Amino acid sequence: MPTYGYRCSPCGEFDVVRAMAETAKVTPCPDCGQPATRTFGTPGLRSLDPGVRRALDTGARSAENPTIVSSVPGRSRRPTPITRDPRHAKLPRP
Ligand SMILES: [Zn+2]
Repeated sequence: MPTYGYRCSPCGEFDVVRAMAETAKVTPCPDCGQPATRTFGTPGLRSLDPGVRRALDTGARSAENPTIVSSVPGRSRRPTPITRDPRHAKLPRP
């Protein structure tokens, strides 16, 4: 059964485990008995696959502090080889 979050104004937030069919908008607070309203938070992202969670964390971190790069990642810094064949000098230039 899923866990639902509720908030009581004087007491704070609490969770209730119940069937989806029994979910009501207003639930009595277990401490004071006053009606509490349901809250909607983030789903259980921590139960995701570690690789997916790492990718989501990296994406969120990159949105605030993007990594500054000085070259295209994954390419070598070796310059384009220059040919020494004399026939290549006669080729049209762009
Ligand atoms: Zn309460």
